[in-house]
Amino acid sequence: MQDTALRELDVVRDFVNTLDLEENKEGIATPAQLGAWLGGRGLISEGSITTEEHRLAVETRETIRRLLLANNGGEAAPADLAELDRLADRAALAPRFHAGGVRLEPGTGGVVGALGLLLATVAEAMAEGTWTRLKACSEHSCMWAFYDRSKNRSGHWCSMRVCGNRAKARQFRERRRAESSAG
Ligand SMILES: [Zn+2]
Repeated sequence: MQDTALRELDVVRDFVNTLDLEENKEGIATPAQLGAWLGGRGLISEGSITTEEHRLAVETRETIRRLLLANNGGEAAPADLAELDRLADRAALAPRFHAGGVRLEPGTGGVVGALGLLLATVAEAMAEGTWTRLKACSEHSCMWAFYDRSKNRSGHWCSMRVCGNRAKARQFRERRRAESSAG
């Protein structure tokens, strides 16, 4: 079941990962880069993007990242949820009925409509129960979005090999420091 359901969320994961904190690489640094990214995923047709729309997209990305951190053992901040509500209103997200069922669809185009499509995917994942599998890495220099595929949804790091080991090594160093200062 999950793999198809998760695939729908890929675009949300990839959007969050347009910023690589570790390498300090911003994939949507300019309105033009944002347009290319959204266009490449079929979320926007064309038209120039204003600096305000660009700022909204970057803010929305970071709001989603905070929600993914909350999925990694926390609670979503009411202010972040309220921000998604406002965006959903702006995008005029509404249920639209099709022969095969119902989907949330934005009533506007452009960047706001594209962000609305991302929110619709988030909403569907929440309804299906797959949303909580998408997390942001709890290593603060990383915060990469990843799927927790563990059975009991207990994963914390994007990669056990990299961030998991890093956190464990730090815990080890801290413990050793505490022991040596105690003794
Ligand atoms: Zn990580």
